[in-house]
Formats: sequence, structure tokens, C-alpha cells
Amino acid sequence: MRASFRIGRVAGVPVGVNWSVLVIFLLIAWGLAAVQFPRAYPGRPVWAYVLAGLAAAVVFFLGLLAHEVSHAVVAKRNGLEVGGITLWLFGGVAELRGEARDPGAELRIAGVGPLVSLIIGLFFGGVAVLLSLAGVHGLWLGALAWLAGINVLLAVFNALPAAPLDGGRLLRAAVWKATGDRTKASVVAARAGWVLGVLLIGLGLWRFLVGAGFGGLWLALIGWFLIGAAGMEERQARMGSALRGVRVADVMTPQPQTASGDMTVADFVDHYLFAYRHSALPLTTDGRPVGLVTVDRVRGIPAERRSATTLAEVACRADQLVLASPDEELTDLLPRLSECADGRALVVADGGLVGIVSPSDISRAVQRSSLREQAAGRR
Ligand SMILES: [Zn+2]
Repeated sequence: MRASFRIGRVAGVPVGVNWSVLVIFLLIAWGLAAVQFPRAYPGRPVWAYVLAGLAAAVVFFLGLLAHEVSHAVVAKRNGLEVGGITLWLFGGVAELRGEARDPGAELRIAGVGPLVSLIIGLFFGGVAVLLSLAGVHGLWLGALAWLAGINVLLAVFNALPAAPLDGGRLLRAAVWKATGDRTKASVVAARAGWVLGVLLIGLGLWRFLVGAGFGGLWLALIGWFLIGAAGMEERQARMGSALRGVRVADVMTPQPQTASGDMTVADFVDHYLFAYRHSALPLTTDGRPVGLVTVDRVRGIPAERRSATTLAEVACRADQLVLASPDEELTDLLPRLSECADGRALVVADGGLVGIVSPSDISRAVQRSSLREQAAGRR
């Protein structure tokens, strides 16, 4: 999920917001301010409902953020890199790079999120109970009670044992621990995600048909999203299993042709491009990679500007490059591949460029490995 805009960093992790959050924020604030609060606490001025609705929606999103930040912090403590946190239509995502080392780490990283939501819910519930014991009633107590309920609901829903929910990761950790087989565990969790998705769609459509309206359709939409995400997790798990033990050096194209960033695009097109078999050209200075030009990027430069444009100007910059080491497992590299370099990684040893990995190198490796697995009868 892409962040439409960044709002800052929390615990060292960049936090972004997708525009779709705005839809949910307004729906929640509107539902509370225009429907739920006036019904439960009639006779207040409109501004009081609006203020309470907006405040509850803001605090709800802060709770969601705390949930994702807890995943990110525990993931970092367990040696994983965290690319960022994005809030979007279906809540939040903490983008973790790489995989948990063992079932225990998986359990801690996945379990902390629902735990944090539960604690937030219990906290607001406790405050609401104390206030009502002290004789305080009314709109603001209603907002606290709603926050308590929604956070407990968030904890319970996320703990359902189905990928890609946190509960699915807990299920994966349990199966992984019991069988020692990470791939099998991922497939079990993904299948459970598919089942939950189908159930939610069925339940949502049924509720819509009996008149629950938007709430029913919303459940069905979440179910549809779960089915898609679960299918993707299963494919990734199978690919990871096919590639186990394959190293970057096994699949890379060694010693690729390189160029200097000072060369003009016109020179490259006239003298290199047709003799050149690959669609990406690493730029180096003293053997060190400093950029990567793809044929697509060169093609984007109009012919009349090619003699005035250097390769360095159209290349992915050094800080956008994905670097790998020859001994690294290919499955560790895959989640790092970025769009700028069109899914390519440069392989570096002792600071010098020794190879390049392209998407076709990777798909060839997957094909070879699955053939090998079939031959070994491991399926
Ligand atoms: Zn979570």
C-alpha cells in the first residue's frame, strides 16, 4: 500500500497516510456525530456532536497507529528492518522487510499489535467505568465507551487466525513451531485467510440483504481483500520454498558491461545500445556502482535532448539502488527489490560491482528450483 503523503516519523519509522484513510475518517466521524451520538444523547448543540465525533475519530486513528508502531518496534528488536507504516482503507500496515527468524520472533511481532489494541480498549473502558461511577454521564462518556468498544473489536478481529491478519501470523508461528516447516505453516495460514474471506463475504451479503446496508457491504469488501491477500501470501511462501538455499551468486549475471555516468544518452544509444544484450546498464566510478540506467529510462528522453543529457541524469541514483552480496540468500533479496531499478539488484563484493540480478534471472531460478523439487518428489 502506497502512502499518498508522509506525516513524520514515530520510533524512527516513517509514517505515511494513503488518501483512502480520509474516506474512513469522515465516515467514522460522520457516523458518530450525525447518527450515533444524537440518538444516544439527544438535545445537545450540533457543534458538541461534531466535536465529539471528530475527537473520537482522531483518537481511534492514533490507536491504530500505536498498534502498527508496536509491530514495527518489536520487529526491529527481533532484527527485521521496517520500511514504514502506512494507514489506509483497511487500517494500518507496517511494512516489514524479510522474515522472522524463528516461530518465537513471529509470535512476538504479530502478537503485540492486538495486545496493544486490547490494552487501549481496556484503558478507555476503565476510564468510562470510573467516570460513570463518579456520576459523570453524557456525550463524552459515550465517546469513551465507543473508543473502548472499537479498540477491543479491533484486537479481536485482528486476532482471528487467518492470514494476512495478525492472528494468521500467530497461527503460522504455531504450525511452524509444531512442524518445523515454515512453508507449510504459511500455506495453512493463507488457506485459513481464504476461508475467513469467504465467510465474511457470505455474512456481509446476508446482512446487506436483510437490511444492514453499508455495514454488510463493508464486511464483504474486507472479505474480498482478505482472499486476495491470502492468495498472494501462499504464492510468496511457495516461491520462497522453491528458492530456499539459492544464493545471489547462483543466479546473477556476472561482470555486466558498465558505463560512466558522464556518457551522454546520445552516445549510449548510438554506440552501445544495439551491441548490448541487456536492458539495464550499471554506472560505475572506479568499479563502484553509482547508478543504474534502464532502457525504459533512456527511451523517455526525447531524441533532441539526448546529446545534452548524461546517463547520470536519467539513472536511478546511488541511494535508490538495491545492493546485494553474492553469498546472500535470494529470498532475502526479493522483498528489497524496488521499482526505481525495475526490480534489478546490483551485486557488490568488497565495494566493487561483480554482477547484476534481473527479474528474468529470478524467474529462471524459480523455474529451475521447482523442476528440481518435482524431480526430488518433494511436493
Ligand atoms: Zn496488527
